[in-house]
Amino acid sequence: MRTKHLLAGNWKMNLGPTQARAYARQLKESITPLSKTDVWVAPASISASAVAEELKGTSLQVGAQNVHWAESGAFTGETSPLFLKDLGATFTLTGHSERRQFFGETSEATAQRTQAALKAGLEVIVCIGETESERVSGKTERVLEEQLQPVLAGLTAETATKVILAYEPVWAIGTGKVASLKDIQETHQHIQKVWASHNLPGSAVILYGGSVNPTNFAEILALKEVHGALVGGASIKLDQWLELIKIAEATAV
Ligand code: PEP
Repeated sequence: MRTKHLLAGNWKMNLGPTQARAYARQLKESITPLSKTDVWVAPASISASAVAEELKGTSLQVGAQNVHWAESGAFTGETSPLFLKDLGATFTLTGHSERRQFFGETSEATAQRTQAALKAGLEVIVCIGETESERVSGKTERVLEEQLQPVLAGLTAETATKVILAYEPVWAIGTGKVASLKDIQETHQHIQKVWASHNLPGSAVILYGGSVNPTNFAEILALKEVHGALVGGASIKLDQWLELIKIAEATAV
């Protein structure tokens, strides 16, 4: 069971190795000891080594934005979970909507990637979310169930403790639009029901993602259904990222 908020930054295809190292150094130098928040960052995989070196010995964790299901082999352009472990990564995202949307990743592939990451000893943030038209046509719950099904079906009582879910409405990612507090609450409650229906122990750790920024974060994190956030744009602007960390530290867990 997590006893802290989790604030995870998805840097997407931003910050190459030199910039990422400089950003990580600034982050490390600016951060004060944290008691209520785990801070994780997911640089582009080519920048991950530099960031891991820079953050070594701090409480900040480095991870990846995606991972392959095989340990090695003829999979051009992919990243093995073992390589991530080797560089010091502790987690990976899987199923991000940009992977689903632009690279055709299915929920089954997300499940395979999740399994491989867990096998390698990584924690996994599994991303799920509906498109705007799916929400408008009342399909949100069904879509989330379909996305979760293959992932949750593959978990055991033990591996389930290494999985974090990120509810990210696709229409809220990078758009400046945020789901209403009521929608976040209801959707996270539904996700908990789906989790329980798979006979998994305890309750799911669920992050919200989608245009989180220092202006909207406090009220989102104050919801008891929300355990943290997955943040894109605001995670690569140091002032905003530090502000989000400050808000998480000031909010009751
Ligand atoms: C994301 O990429 O997971 C994300 C939530 O992006 P943003 O915060 O920019 O909406």
